[in-house]
Amino acid sequence: MRIGIVGAGIGGLCAAIGLQRAGAQVTVFEQAPVLRAGGSGLSVFANGLRALDVIGVGDAFRQATSAEVRELRGGQRRPDGAWLARIPTEAVAELRVIDRAVLHDLLLGHLAPGTVRSGCRIVRADPDGSVVVDPGREPEADGAPASGQDAEAGPSGTSDESFDLVVAADGLRSTVRRSWPGDPGIRYAGYSAWRGITDRPVDLHGEAGETWGIRQRFGLAPLSDGRVYWFAVATMAQDVRIEDEMAAVRATFGHWHAPIPALLEATPADRVHRLPINELAGPLPSYVRGRTVLLGDAAHAMTPNLGQGGGQAMEDAAVLTVALGGLARDDAPDPVQVGSALARYDALRRPRSQRIARMSRLVGQMGHVRGAAVSRVRDQVLRLTPERALVRQIRQVQGWEPPAG
Ligand SMILES: Cc1cc2nc3c(=O)[nH]c(=O)nc-3n(C[C@H](O)[C@H](O)[C@H](O)COP(=O)(O)OP(=O)(O)OC[C@H]3O[C@@H](n4cnc5c(N)ncnc54)[C@H](O)[C@@H]3O)c2cc1C
Repeated sequence: MRIGIVGAGIGGLCAAIGLQRAGAQVTVFEQAPVLRAGGSGLSVFANGLRALDVIGVGDAFRQATSAEVRELRGGQRRPDGAWLARIPTEAVAELRVIDRAVLHDLLLGHLAPGTVRSGCRIVRADPDGSVVVDPGREPEADGAPASGQDAEAGPSGTSDESFDLVVAADGLRSTVRRSWPGDPGIRYAGYSAWRGITDRPVDLHGEAGETWGIRQRFGLAPLSDGRVYWFAVATMAQDVRIEDEMAAVRATFGHWHAPIPALLEATPADRVHRLPINELAGPLPSYVRGRTVLLGDAAHAMTPNLGQGGGQAMEDAAVLTVALGGLARDDAPDPVQVGSALARYDALRRPRSQRIARMSRLVGQMGHVRGAAVSRVRDQVLRLTPERALVRQIRQVQGWEPPAG
């Protein structure tokens, strides 16, 4: 089976690994001329780990990440350091935190050489499995040629290529989704996030989690080498201009409880970036259109409040691999069987990923309630939430099992 994948992010690479291992001929088109992931961290929970096991990289991922995280005490605090809620240990029992650049290299290392064609932008993907490729940018030195051997040259330097299946993993601002029936577009969640990684180990004394202020939040988690990944979230206009991002983080969070000031101190200012948080403005009616499927953020871009966007992309990749099963190996797969496999992918992935996106949005709404009085009520609710309710929510999210083949 010939499969074209649009985008070499977490979702596209995981799908490429799973499908290539299953026997498909996979080509990944990545618009960026150089394959590189942003320099922040990524939390992967039990469900993500299980998905990585399905595509065959779980053990390598475990080796590359921390086992220390298992001993963490997690939960939510107030800016003065008082605990509002403790997360049950099972919530973080299998949590792994990884530098995104390390994850990206790990995933790329599991693909056959030449699988990814960098510098190639997909300008259109049609339901019949054809794509229009703009090989506008130079590929990187060890990449494959920017144009496939059987590609037909188009009038403006673009070329058409055809696949048995196209997997659109082209992220939040997906080009492919833009022509999808019922595309709701994206919307700003009302808050933006700075992210950073310290350049040296910082002792967290076994404690991690989030601290909630008034329309402001700070989260931290250790990497395996003792450095710490942190994020700082604040309500603001999407297009606000900030001259000095690090100065803004220090002014907002620098007086919060330890070890937050020490983390900021240990983070080089040029490693701190701010991102407006956007999500899909509504649920898509289908992730499948003919021989094209949406995967990862392209299908269900969500707020990062549950740390699940990447995990859901991993689940998508695992389910697509399982659903296609032996068809992946087939040089001339039966279109009817491919259609059934894709319908199964949609049925398994859409309700779950859309439910998690809703849950994540709700957490963000709680974290950014307006005003001191409402924030105090929210804190009280957090304090009084019974542990069993938290456990139920955690199981819903992390208790995912891959489908049978
Ligand atoms: C602040 C923040 C914190 C987060 N924290 C976590 C976390 O802790 N845990 C977690 O699981 N998730 C987290 N997420 C979510 C996670 O980052 C995303 O869900 C995940 O990266 C999505 O991966 P993706 O492959 O679907 O999309 P992307 O990573 O966006 O990759 C899309 C790729 O497609 C390429 N592309 C786009 N258009 C084209 C085109 N037309 N042609 C060719 N290539 C194209 C892009 O260049 C890119 O490489 C967080 C998100 C944010 C914003």
